[in-house]
Amino acid sequence: MKTESDMRTLFIHGGIDGDELTGSVNVPIYQTSTYRQTSLGVMKGYEYSRTGNPTRHALEVLITELEKGTDGFAFASGMAAITAVLSLFQSGDRVIISNNVYGGTFRVLDKIFQQFGLAYTIVDTSDLKEVETAISDQVKAIFIESPANPLMTITDIRAVSALAKQKGILTIVDNTFMTPYLQRPLELGADIVVHSATKYLGGHSDLIAGLAVTNDKTLSDRLSFIQNATGGILQPFDSWLLIRGIKTLSVRMDRHVENAGYLAEFLKQHPAVDAVYYPGLADTPGYEIHRQQSDGPGAMISFVLNEAYDTETFFSSLEVAALAESLGGVESLVCHPATMTHASIPEEIRKKVGIVDALIRYSPGIEAKEDLIRDLGRALERSKR
Ligand code: PLP
Repeated sequence: MKTESDMRTLFIHGGIDGDELTGSVNVPIYQTSTYRQTSLGVMKGYEYSRTGNPTRHALEVLITELEKGTDGFAFASGMAAITAVLSLFQSGDRVIISNNVYGGTFRVLDKIFQQFGLAYTIVDTSDLKEVETAISDQVKAIFIESPANPLMTITDIRAVSALAKQKGILTIVDNTFMTPYLQRPLELGADIVVHSATKYLGGHSDLIAGLAVTNDKTLSDRLSFIQNATGGILQPFDSWLLIRGIKTLSVRMDRHVENAGYLAEFLKQHPAVDAVYYPGLADTPGYEIHRQQSDGPGAMISFVLNEAYDTETFFSSLEVAALAESLGGVESLVCHPATMTHASIPEEIRKKVGIVDALIRYSPGIEAKEDLIRDLGRALERSKR
C-alpha cells in the first residue's frame, strides 16, 4: 500500500488489497493443497500449501504491516504460534515468563518444552529489577504479556526490550489483549509479537487462529522454516475469515474500549466488588507506563467479588454476557480464571499472584452499554448470599 498509513485505513486496505487478476475487492480463498508446475521445478510462486498459500500469504503480509514488522506467519491457533516461537530455542536454554501469562503458555512450557530441556523461570516482569536478577547465561528470551492475563499487570515493554537487547536475548510479546490498533511491541523494541487471533483480531468468536511477527531477518528465516517443518498452519478459509475480521477491528475496538470504561467505573463503585483491574483506571499500577506504550486501555476487565456475594450465582444470573472461555468477541464473555483460563497454573502460584477464586474476568462485547450495565448490576444483586 498506498500513501495512507493510518491504522484504521490499513485494517481495510493493508497487505494485499483484493485480487489483481479479477478486481475482486476481497482476497480470494485459494482452497488448494498444491500447485501445478509448468515444467519440473517451475512454479508461479507456490508449491504446496503447508509451505505457502496465497490467502494465508495475504493475511501474513497484512499482520506484518499492522505490527510494523518485516515478516509474519499465520498458525492454526495462538498456541500453535507460541509453540512455533518456542521452537526457536534448544535444550539447555531458559525462557523468562511473566507470572500471569495465559495458562496455556505456561502449560506448553511446563508440560511439553520442559521434556526437551527448555527451562522456564516465572518472574513478575512488571518489576525490572526482578527481570534483571533472573537473567542468567542460560536465559535466551523474555516472554511477556502487557496487560497480562488476567490481572492486567503492566510490564514496561520498552525497558524490558532494552534490557534484553543489552543482554543479547530476545523479547517476545503476546499482544492478544491490545491488538496492533492499540499497541505495537516491535516499535517498542521487542523482537517477536504473537497473537491469539481467535480474540479481537478475528472478533466474532467463530475462528481459532494464531499469528507471529518479527522484524529480524534471521528470526524470520527460522520461523519460516519452523512453520513449514512443523506444519501448524492456518487454513485458507480461516485466513480469509481472519482478514475479514481485521477489516472492522478499529470500530469494534473503539466500542469495546468505550463499554469497558463504563463497566469498570460501574464495578468500582459497586458494594459487591472488592477490587477492579482495568488499565483505564488511574490507580492501576503501571498506568503511566501503559499510557506511554499504548494507544488505549484495551477492553479487558477483571474484578474480585466481595465474600458476601457468591461467584457461581453471579455467573448463572447473567443474561446478556455469556459464561465462556475466550475473549474479544462482539458478544460479552465472562470467565472464571481460577477454573478456566488459568486452571493449568498450580494453585500456589495462582494464589500468590492474586488469581483468587472470587476473581472474574469480563470481556465486554459491543452491545449497548446500558444493557451490559443492567445485566451486570442484576447479576451482582442476585448473587448476594
Ligand atoms: N494468548 C492469550 C493472551 C490468550 O488469551 C490465549 C487464549 O485464550 C492464547 C494466547 C492461546 O490462543 P488460542 O486459544 O488461539 O490457541
